[in-house]
Amino acid sequence: VTRVRNTSPANTPIPGIKNIIPISSAKGGVGKSTVSANLAMALSKKGAKVGLMDADIYGPSIPTLLNVTESPTPKENNIIVPVEKYGLKVMSMGFFLPEDKAVIWRGPMLNKMITQFLKGVEWGELDYLLIDLPPGTGDVQLTLCQQVPLTGAVIVSTPQTVALNIAKKGMAMFQQLNCPIIGVIENMSYYQIPNGEKDYIFGESGAKKFAEELQLPFLGEIPIATTIRKQSDEGMPIVEADMDSPHAQAFIAAAENL
Ligand code: ADP
Repeated sequence: VTRVRNTSPANTPIPGIKNIIPISSAKGGVGKSTVSANLAMALSKKGAKVGLMDADIYGPSIPTLLNVTESPTPKENNIIVPVEKYGLKVMSMGFFLPEDKAVIWRGPMLNKMITQFLKGVEWGELDYLLIDLPPGTGDVQLTLCQQVPLTGAVIVSTPQTVALNIAKKGMAMFQQLNCPIIGVIENMSYYQIPNGEKDYIFGESGAKKFAEELQLPFLGEIPIATTIRKQSDEGMPIVEADMDSPHAQAFIAAAENL
C-alpha cells in the first residue's frame, strides 16, 4: 500500500480546535448525516463546545436536519461567521445554494471550498469539530486529510454486507492517508417491536462483527426508529428534542466513546 504522507506545509492545526473528527460512511443513505447531527448534539449536551461542518457538498442535509434558514455572516478578509443552532456552530454549502441548484465542481474548486470551511470560518474555541463527509473516497476526503491533523474518523454503517463492504473502502482510504480510525457506529441496527423483541431488519450485529474482525473499537448501535426519522425531518434531532428517550440515549452512549 502506498501511503500518502501528510507532510504538506498546508497540514496545520486550526488554532482553538482540539479535535477534528470526520464522520464517514463511503456508502450513501446509511444515516451518516443523522448520526453526525445527533453525535454533535450529544457532545454538546455533555458540555463540550462543538462545531458541525457539513462537507457533503453534493447533498448538504445539515441545514434541513437542524432547520437552519439563515445564512452565515461574511466578515472582512474572507472570513465567515458560522451559524449557531441548538448550541452548535454550523457551516454548510447548503447555506449558500438555492435548494434547486447542484454543486458541479472539479477537484480544485472542492479543495478550495473545504479549505475555506476549515480555515476561513471563525470557529473559535471548540472541543470537537465534527465533519459530515460526502459518500465515497474522493477529493473532499483527500483535501481534509491533507489540510488538517485529524483526531480520527468515525465510520457509520448499517449491518448489511453491501454497506460494510463499501465502509471497508472508506477505512482503507483513511488508513492510506494516515488518518487514525476511532471506531465504527452501527446505524439502523434493529427495530424495536412493541412486544419487546428486536427485529434485525438488515441482519444482526453486522457492523459489530466487522469492527471486531478489523480490530476496531465498536462505538455503539442506533436502532431504526420513526422518532429518529421524524425529528430529523422536522429539523430538531432526537437528542435535542427528547434527550432522555432511549433513542437519544443510544446516540449519547456512542458519543461517550469518542
Ligand atoms: P446519509 O447521510 O448516509 O446519506 P441520512 O442521515 O440522510 O443518510 O439518512 C438517510 C435517511 O434515513 C433519512 O431519511 C433519515 O431520516 C433516515 N434515517 C437515518 N438513520 C435513521 C434511524 N436510525 N432511524 C430511522 N431513520 C433513519
